[in-house]
Amino acid sequence: MWRAVALTLFPEMFPGPLGESLAGKALKEGVWSLEAVDIRRFAKDRHGTVDDAPFGGGAGMVMKPDVLSAAIEAVAMPRVPKVLLSPRGAPFSQARGRELAQGPGVVLVCGRFEGVDERVIEAQALEEISVGDFVLSGGEIAAMAVMDCCVRLLPGVMGEPASANEESFEDGLLEYPHYTRPASWTGPDGTERRVPEVLVSGHHGKVADWRRLQREEITRRRRPDLWARRQVAKVNDEK
Ligand code: SAH
Repeated sequence: MWRAVALTLFPEMFPGPLGESLAGKALKEGVWSLEAVDIRRFAKDRHGTVDDAPFGGGAGMVMKPDVLSAAIEAVAMPRVPKVLLSPRGAPFSQARGRELAQGPGVVLVCGRFEGVDERVIEAQALEEISVGDFVLSGGEIAAMAVMDCCVRLLPGVMGEPASANEESFEDGLLEYPHYTRPASWTGPDGTERRVPEVLVSGHHGKVADWRRLQREEITRRRRPDLWARRQVAKVNDEK
């Protein structure tokens, strides 16, 4: 069983959306487990203090190293990566999600306030992960995003294993456009839109070619960064 542990000041936020749909079903079936541990339980005083003012001054509060470290110690498991959700972390990726999903699980430390004391990051060798170049009010939603990405990659969670391979990012390309019935649809703008002819042709080879081309064009146009990285990887492969 793949184990996810969230260290948080708001344990009641979990499983939240992860209790529904694919992830929720897998949780009930015991494919993975989720434990939300309240950091406040590890406070050293009777007021349950978990944060304090920053040395050097400035706005906001900082999560105390002693309390947070004690919480991490209590849940640490051998060979399980310890992650701190942080806007300055390495951008999270499908590739990192796949690696985490292939391991025994993950411990996710959710920051609040201005963040955590730098010394815990060092002492606990936390891997800092960001879910994007924007600021959330806490690490919980970011932790859920990481868990969700990992859980749908666990064996048996997704209906069709094949559907994972052609998805966005798996091979450096974004996904092709999808269509379903009706074959002709008139939207609120009064324009009739038909699905691309090739998709109703029944010609599997042509469908595959069309989808491939779409993926390449969409990636080149929308994500020149991904496209460039892919071209570099290709050149290296050919060497
Ligand atoms: N003062 C920080 C922001 C703190 S936000 C700064 O300027 O960078 C509070 C907490 O939310 C962080 O400690 C982190 O755990 C979480 N968080 C916010 N944005 C995030 C992001 N993009 N990715 C991952 N975690 C994030």
